[in-house]
Amino acid sequence: MNYEKLLSDVSEGQERLSVQESVELFLHADLNSLGQAANRMRQRLNGDEVVTYLVDRNINYTNVCVTDCKFCEFYRPLGHKESYVISETELFKKVEETVALGGTRILLQGGHHPELRLDFYVNMLKNLKTRFPQVELNAFSPPEIDHIAQVEGTSCLQVLESLKTAGLDGLPGGGGEILDDEIRERVSPKKLMSTGWLSCMSDAHSLGLLTSASQVIGFGEEPTHRFNALQGIRDTQDKSMAAYGRGFLSFVMWPLQFESRYGEVFGNKKGVKLGAEREEYLRHSALSRLFLDSVPHIGASWPTMGPVIAAEALMFGADDFGSTMIEENVVSSAGSTYDCMTEEAIRAHIGDAGFRPQKRDSAYQAVS
Ligand code: SF4
Repeated sequence: MNYEKLLSDVSEGQERLSVQESVELFLHADLNSLGQAANRMRQRLNGDEVVTYLVDRNINYTNVCVTDCKFCEFYRPLGHKESYVISETELFKKVEETVALGGTRILLQGGHHPELRLDFYVNMLKNLKTRFPQVELNAFSPPEIDHIAQVEGTSCLQVLESLKTAGLDGLPGGGGEILDDEIRERVSPKKLMSTGWLSCMSDAHSLGLLTSASQVIGFGEEPTHRFNALQGIRDTQDKSMAAYGRGFLSFVMWPLQFESRYGEVFGNKKGVKLGAEREEYLRHSALSRLFLDSVPHIGASWPTMGPVIAAEALMFGADDFGSTMIEENVVSSAGSTYDCMTEEAIRAHIGDAGFRPQKRDSAYQAVS
């Protein structure tokens, strides 16, 4: 295989990567060549001057969950003394604080609570939208939507329709991890499988909700599993673009955090390498940009990799620095050492990397 020719053709949009080619490039291509090709594609799609970011807050409305993912340190069983469901007073206070800090978006994500009905989620969105009409509500994830649908005995599409009517603006791409069922069966067997995850996102596209796709790497999977997952995302994107003229706006990938329970259970004892270090992260960043040629934006992940490596990813295909993450409990529970970041700090990191920082909304439109 002529790596340079393939990378050149893909970055110019003359060819699409296959899973097999991607695995070969991941294992054998020169790191700088991957970065240069991803950067060419990023320049072609998004220019070479601006890097975007969001000011938002991630509110975890409940930590009760029945899904028992092996890597999750965040959830608590129903009735556990540390379990909670957020009160409306606390929720409003957190949103008020976010607005005061210039926040434009709220992410709402939680565990799979066995007793909360659709009304709970509908009322939460309605009350937030009534009180804070200017704030974008990006909430839940395909596994949460599937869980609500199961509790209600209805379909994901019907749940999404109700939530959209109540004020939902977007469905974030959480709970994707590796969209390959061999890996999902191993790490989160009770969670929505790959086809269901992608189908729920397709429903969201049909309703005009803003969506993103995500991937967590480092469960001990092979590169083939990672690119199989990207193939599923690209196929769904192609179908949604053809059918509805819209699809995923972005893709962000990050490594599993080492201190998670999954590490204790399946870690060094079995010789499984968990997470990913700098080079592996940058190689996969670049190849994600190149593989997902129809997904407009690629995000860098400072909460897991730190701001220095996240800034490096801006030269490996990423064009977005993510968000301030005023509050984030799931990744930090798993052992991430990076907490929230101020807007000033994000702007400084982007500027130091040689780009012009631009605050954006969920639709990637510039906001001041
Ligand atoms: S990752 Fe989500 S679905 Fe899995 S156990 Fe944790 S809270 Fe539940």
